Amino acid sequence: MNEFRADLHCHSTCSDGSLSPEELVRLAVEKGLQGLSITDHDTIAAYELALPHAKQLGLELIPGVEFSASHNDISIHILGYSYVSNHPALQELCEKHSARRLNRNGLILEKLKHLGMPIAMEEVLAFSGLPEAVSLGRPHIAQAMVKKGYVDSIEHAFKRFLSEGKSAYAVGNLISAKETIEAIHNAKGLAVIAHPHLIAHNRTLKQLLEMNFDGLECYYSRFQKEKNQRWVSLAEKKGWLKTGGSDFHGKIKPDISLGCAWVDRTTFQKMQEWPNHGI
Ligand code: AMP
Ligand code: ZN
Ligand code: FE
Ligand code: FE
Repeated sequence: MNEFRADLHCHSTCSDGSLSPEELVRLAVEKGLQGLSITDHDTIAAYELALPHAKQLGLELIPGVEFSASHNDISIHILGYSYVSNHPALQELCEKHSARRLNRNGLILEKLKHLGMPIAMEEVLAFSGLPEAVSLGRPHIAQAMVKKGYVDSIEHAFKRFLSEGKSAYAVGNLISAKETIEAIHNAKGLAVIAHPHLIAHNRTLKQLLEMNFDGLECYYSRFQKEKNQRWVSLAEKKGWLKTGGSDFHGKIKPDISLGCAWVDRTTFQKMQEWPNHGI
């Protein structure tokens, strides 16, 4: 039997990935993974859609999500795992994000209009895959910009207009790291700092490490092997879980393949058997 591998970070069409939850499950099995968690931005919709397919194909699935959050105005991502998926605390947070995104995306479209690049919200929606369960974001706007011929690539759209500080960037109402951790914990889940190497300031990272997270994403697609060690040591010092995953998005980030970062059976089982299930 193959070595056990579980990818704990990937995105479906419920947010800005290009594969549906079912397609992600099938790809995970094709790649020889035995475990998976789909961590869409600010929505928990993928788990229920993926679960019947995972069961049928013998892939172990744990509920996952990647929340956008801020700490002292620095934008960060927080992964939530193994929560009670119909818990109102998480549903409320997702609803809050959905309103935040609606408002923020409107502000971005307004700015693009002023820059001579009008796009209707319906044109952005056309890239969303699953209209009933979608978390629309900048990548969808970037794809609409490419489609309309305003830019030649998604990368270009981000570089010139959509990245932080660029002319069409809008921040919207940020939700704090503290509130996010609380919601995940209220829903009996695990809160994990995502891709810590992307945190803009060392001071912010230091402060986050003092908060009541349960894990640190130590293994990540773009880490070189020797770079993992810094995060592994930090997580061990804190007694936190050492999680990992690819951050696979499909065709919006074609250089990242599903399963290129993963955790072993011990970590996966610890998370799967997190004692609060069934409450
Ligand atoms: P949002 O959550 O709507 O603010 O969009 C942020 C998401 O856009 C990130 O999580 C990435 O998936 C994606 N993203 C950020 N920068 C780039 C980039 N340069 N090229 C492609 N996708 C990007
Ligand atoms: Zn994304
Ligand atoms: Fe992220
Ligand atoms: Fe991600």
